[in-house]
Amino acid sequence: MSSKKPLRILLASPRGFCAGVDRAIQIVERAIERYGRPVYVRHEIVHNRHVVENLEAKGAIFVDELDEVPDDRPVVFSAHGVPKAVPAEAARRKLLYVDATCPLVSKVHREAERHHASGRTVVLIGHAGHPEVIGTMGQLPPGKVLLVEDVAQAEALEVPDPANLAYATQTTLSVDDTIGIVTALRRRFPAIHGPKTEDICYATTNRQAAVRAIAPKCDALVVVGAPNSSNSMRLVEVAASCGCRKSRLVQRAADMGWRWLDGSRRLGITAGASAPELLVREVVDALRKRFDVTEEPVDGVEERMTFKLPAGLEAA
Ligand code: SF4
Repeated sequence: MSSKKPLRILLASPRGFCAGVDRAIQIVERAIERYGRPVYVRHEIVHNRHVVENLEAKGAIFVDELDEVPDDRPVVFSAHGVPKAVPAEAARRKLLYVDATCPLVSKVHREAERHHASGRTVVLIGHAGHPEVIGTMGQLPPGKVLLVEDVAQAEALEVPDPANLAYATQTTLSVDDTIGIVTALRRRFPAIHGPKTEDICYATTNRQAAVRAIAPKCDALVVVGAPNSSNSMRLVEVAASCGCRKSRLVQRAADMGWRWLDGSRRLGITAGASAPELLVREVVDALRKRFDVTEEPVDGVEERMTFKLPAGLEAA
């Protein structure tokens, strides 16, 4: 008989890579194939150390800013999007650049531009300092986007003209928190324009719903992801808000810190949109070494979203 304690595992579905992350990684890989090593990448292509190190091994060099890119090498912009000034500077330097911005982030950029062209002030709901927020704010001239991070800021917001206002959101927010912020904005500014369907993307919405489905049945829940990954951090919060007593983020199995699982009999596992499935398997394998594991099947939404690669980098 096994001396290991029993542990039932519920794997959230869907979890892990989204179509935008998959596309961004393929763009870097194809760019290396097409243009040779090295290909420069401005910022982490997606927020995951494992993915970044894998691409480094294939010939990518990650930099913080464009001035670190030599004139004769290509540069890829990350999935989170970039302020307009970045491609403008790349064009001025005649750099060969490829934009790996997720098409769902680009859609928010176009929305912000459209509102600005109609004379509206844009309120962006998002987290200060996140690259996606910096990129979206950078689509319009300085001062033309007002950032709101929470309900308190929405309640205190002062706008130049309440009749000419629109909002957009970061794609990776908590669905529930965003509803609260939008409700406050709509109450204070009834004429505010907003997206027909929320800017929070399908992948963020589906991964949060999958956590909501399993968290109430679990004593503990692990999110495989990175601390700078907005959608991963939101999954930890969603689990806690659904009554799961313990939820924590781990980058990989080595971060599990096993003591916190003491007394847990049912463990939920999910992964942020930038975390590869092999890191989930690594965590499950490490659990199998310590527990008598049974995996419980969980049904979830089937995702079929794919995004085209930029011209010139399509499959041969
Ligand atoms: S999380 Fe959503 S917006 Fe971000 S890359 Fe994935 S699909 Fe695109």
